[in-house]
Amino acid sequence: MDKKTAGISSAMKEKIAPKSFIKNPINGTKYTIAISSAKGGVGKSTFAINLAISLKKLGSKVGILDADIYGPSLPKMMKINEKPESDGKSMSPIEKYGLQCMSIGFLVDEETPMIWRGPMVTSAIKTFTQKVLWKNLDFIIIDMPPGTGDTQLTFSQEIKIDGAVIISTPQEIALLDVKRGIKMFDKLGVKIVGLIDNMSHFEGDDGKKYNIFGDGGVEKVAKEFGKNFLGKIPINSDIGRTADNGKPLVEENPDHKISKLYLELAKKIKSSFL
Ligand code: ADP
Repeated sequence: MDKKTAGISSAMKEKIAPKSFIKNPINGTKYTIAISSAKGGVGKSTFAINLAISLKKLGSKVGILDADIYGPSLPKMMKINEKPESDGKSMSPIEKYGLQCMSIGFLVDEETPMIWRGPMVTSAIKTFTQKVLWKNLDFIIIDMPPGTGDTQLTFSQEIKIDGAVIISTPQEIALLDVKRGIKMFDKLGVKIVGLIDNMSHFEGDDGKKYNIFGDGGVEKVAKEFGKNFLGKIPINSDIGRTADNGKPLVEENPDHKISKLYLELAKKIKSSFL
């Protein structure tokens, strides 16, 4: 807990500082990195998991929190079927591939839809950040839900985000949402570490590059808004296959050319914090 505000009731804290200035750093963690996409299905969760494994391979202690309450991916992508241990007050994260992991998907059946209103989502997010016994983490990676809603607001205003990485495909329709995402983080005062162009192109057996979803759009948006462009990840069937099999590509094959890309991106992201 912040030394300055320790022992002060939350009502008092609100009197001292407006809500937007109160931060509740996540216990047991140093830096919080939000992986965000304004649109769904652009590869955000896949990136979040491979980034977490890459940071671990670079020597950091890493946790991953699946904050996508309505569409959790972590149980499937990391092949986690067990339930977290709890003493009724707190929960232990589940360790897999050297990462500390937590997801609402560990607590409910895979096919159970989360039919929840916003306040319940906010409350679940607070539980995951305050009642989970994260241990000695350098980085906690937050796999955000798509969009600009309750979870983003809760993390930005009431918890803590040290930096956000925005993922998009280069399609026009996705880019519109990226611009909204950038403006949201700017408005909330969250540092944007950079943008990533996922599914940037496909390399055929003929060695040619095919720009399936358009060319260079994410980089252009980054320039337009004065943000860092971190790099491109092409379409590659090994990315999807390994995610479906529950062992992320960087873990299964760190020497794969795409794993090397993930590791390069992880180095860039890490260096913006240390
Ligand atoms: P989001 O979290 O944005 O909804 P996911 O990470 O679930 O997206 O990815 C959506 C689908 O695309 C998944 O089936 C995933 O395996 C696949 N995928 C993500 N990135 C790539 C890529 N670069 N190449 C091929 N498939 C990808």
